[in-house]
Amino acid sequence: MDTKVTVKDKVFKKMLSKEVIDARIAELAKQIDQDYEGKELVVLCVLKGAMPFAADLIRKMHLRIRLDFIRLSSYGAGTESSGKIQELVSTGQDLSGKHVLVVEDIVDSGLTLEYLRKDLSSRQVASAAIATLLFKPGNFKGNLAPEYKGFEIANEFVVGFGMDYAEEARQLDSIYQLDEA
Ligand code: 5GP
Repeated sequence: MDTKVTVKDKVFKKMLSKEVIDARIAELAKQIDQDYEGKELVVLCVLKGAMPFAADLIRKMHLRIRLDFIRLSSYGAGTESSGKIQELVSTGQDLSGKHVLVVEDIVDSGLTLEYLRKDLSSRQVASAAIATLLFKPGNFKGNLAPEYKGFEIANEFVVGFGMDYAEEARQLDSIYQLDEA
């Protein structure tokens, strides 16, 4: 059921079910709880795509956390990255001396991740790590891979669970990949 969805002009097929995603997020939450035991963590959700992942992740974590948001944009309306990062909304918090966990929906080229790592180090945080639901190692051009990865996937364009195609499909509770057939 619902193994294919049409979003605008494209057909997508199911890649990861909500049950599989939920189980993996529980594992990541447990790992993060262990790694930051006794510390307070600022969870920095990268809007808009990471919102569902961050919401599920923090509710499975037991640490004391502060939640904050930033909004970056590297994609235009299509399925290829524009290669440019724009900061559309910035955190209002002073992050200096804080342990910061950036929560991303997907790390693709790593451009966004590199931007965030530089930005955080210039803010003199105590530590910075990245948790991403999806990681495309085949496309990654950064120096340091994300510390926490939900799933490694091939170079497919995906939607659902926060991720969009031209601003649609973010509300799907599973993850779908472009169906080339
Ligand atoms: P990067 O800077 O690593 O190339 O790309 C990061 C951002 O590009 C992600 O946060 C996400 O918004 C977008 N992105 C990368 N790959 C995909 C994809 O397969 N599907 C969607 N919907 N967005 C993607």
